[in-house]
Amino acid sequence: MTHPFLDLPPLTAERFAAIERRVAALLDTEQDVVITQGEALLPLEGCIRSGARPGSTALNVVTGPYGQTFGNWLRDCGAAVVDLEVPFHTAVTAEQVAQALAAHPEIDFVSLVHAEAATGNTNPVAEIGEVVRAHGALFMLDAVASVAAEPLLPDAWGVDLCVIGAQKAMGGPAGVSAVSVSGRAWERFAANPAAPRRSYLSLLDWKERWIDGGRRALLHAPAQLEMLALEACVERVESAGLDAVTARHASAAAATRAGVVALGGGLTPYVHDARDAAPVATTLRTPPGVNAAELVARALAADPSLPLVAGGGALAKEMIRVNHYGVDATRGAVRSSLAALGAALVELAPGTTVDLEGAGRAVSDSWS
Ligand SMILES: *Cc1c(COP(=O)(O)O)cnc(C)c1O
Repeated sequence: MTHPFLDLPPLTAERFAAIERRVAALLDTEQDVVITQGEALLPLEGCIRSGARPGSTALNVVTGPYGQTFGNWLRDCGAAVVDLEVPFHTAVTAEQVAQALAAHPEIDFVSLVHAEAATGNTNPVAEIGEVVRAHGALFMLDAVASVAAEPLLPDAWGVDLCVIGAQKAMGGPAGVSAVSVSGRAWERFAANPAAPRRSYLSLLDWKERWIDGGRRALLHAPAQLEMLALEACVERVESAGLDAVTARHASAAAATRAGVVALGGGLTPYVHDARDAAPVATTLRTPPGVNAAELVARALAADPSLPLVAGGGALAKEMIRVNHYGVDATRGAVRSSLAALGAALVELAPGTTVDLEGAGRAVSDSWS
């Protein structure tokens, strides 16, 4: 008897190339799309190590923990790094980016995270892309948490390197990712003697041996199960319609925000302005004296299936993430999450008043 995950015929180069084309269509890009055989940190690190070098200067926008990671890689490559840090409760503006570029005309690389699932904010990439393009720097975007959750148009926005993963709003696998690479970015990589080659981090290897060879021979055996899962999740997004999937995420974010305001009890949206809040996940601030990790643990004890997690690192004290993405971008998941948090809050901080019914009503009313 054949096993459903094992005993599969090998994934062909044709099928691999066809999946790449479908991912490119999802991103509405004419640029080369390379599917990378690992979690999205693989192409992110590959892009930075290919684009940055001693003598280059990078503007690294930090709106959450991923930006902090990028800064470390950039410095490790010998690049000078200008960190533009903004508080996690807001988004960066194109004006702030323009000011940083004007203050450091030598900047030739810009790294930005589109949406941060870890902090719940989203940045205005279209406006920032205009500013970066006018300056002439190479523009890398981490779109792992924005793809399928909100509009993402790398070509129209002048993005040179757009990295996506399937594990968030696409509802797909975590072990495979993709990057679209502009002609300018390929030129820059090729001119960088420090760019990885003959390495798992190398994008140039894929350019020279896969793309330039007409996508006929893969570099190594592909991650077959992840590729099949990626194909299935792209198919599911296509059949629902990308716009419908992003609309569902926008509704989930708006409903969570409205619901938590109605719930009360001192729980508030972490990102101050709704315009800066990411459709992929909504972060909440706990009231003073209530530990977010304890509150989440209590809510999950009541229902372990809820998409709740405390913030990472120091944020675990004060931040709750409602990860309403993928299969959890539903009215039911949002309503149950807020109800469980409200009940847990009353247990942890007796005397707190919450309006569970009002929160449920606000979720339903807001969902459009
Ligand atoms: C989720 C995410 C990633 C991928 O990281 P995981 O910890 O593996 O989920 C990368 N970048 C951003 C902005 C993300 O939100």
